[in-house]
Amino acid sequence: VVSYRNVKKSYGDLEVLHGIDLDIAAGEKIALIGPSGSGKTTLGRMLMTLEEPTSGIIEVEGEPLWQIERNGKLVRANEHHLHRMRSKIGMVFQHFNLFPHMRVLRNVTEAPRKVLGIGKEEAHDRAVEMLCKVGLEDKLDVYPSKLSGGQKQRVAIARALVMRPKIMVFDEVTSALDPELVGEVLSVIKEIAEEGEMAMMLITHEMDFARDVADRVIFGADGRIVETGPPQELFGQPKSDRLKSFLSRFV
Ligand code: ATP
Repeated sequence: VVSYRNVKKSYGDLEVLHGIDLDIAAGEKIALIGPSGSGKTTLGRMLMTLEEPTSGIIEVEGEPLWQIERNGKLVRANEHHLHRMRSKIGMVFQHFNLFPHMRVLRNVTEAPRKVLGIGKEEAHDRAVEMLCKVGLEDKLDVYPSKLSGGQKQRVAIARALVMRPKIMVFDEVTSALDPELVGEVLSVIKEIAEEGEMAMMLITHEMDFARDVADRVIFGADGRIVETGPPQELFGQPKSDRLKSFLSRFV
């Protein structure tokens, strides 16, 4: 469902991703792990269309994100194209970015109504269904300021889910939470993962979570993919010294 082809990214003179090739199948759950500064967030942000690659192509469902085809050539995409592509990609961030002046329910109905143009009743029903899924059916009418960090993050997950994306990117979604709230958010994500149909990119420092949820783990360092494989293999028999030394920090 997603394909990175020779994707490079530089900030000024500093190249932070050196030609990434990565395919994510429909429904596949991948976890991106690696040291701080290895480029995981940048990889996710490009898929979320928040950063543009310096070169290379990222495709979603076979269509390039940043380019469109015209007369057999790829040219830069317009806003309309990006807008359409963006609706296939769900995003949840470290900081929840909820709309503070809207109640929980409205936080979730806003995008389906404004972006997808869905009617009021259907948007309401979909939103309630998603908020039930994340265990917040009793919080529909409260403002975000009345919620714990874990609850806010679950609203953010419902808000992304309601758009029915093809892939969801979870970018270190528990790093800003108090330790006792991490579990409730991870278990919601795990439940959603088990439902199956949507692909997921989990950018995470939680190794147990990656092992539990991912079909495939990708270890990156210094802007390159160093090792990739099913969790049992990657965590159980790491091949490269980089990965061995990275994992040794978690035991
Ligand atoms: P972490 O686990 O700490 O979030 P990461 O693996 O997600 O790290 P990135 O945040 O993708 O790494 O950063 C990769 C590199 O790109 C780092 O060296 C970072 O300093 C640099 N970088 C990221 N964003 C920018 C920016 N907007 N301008 C300049 N440099 C940036």
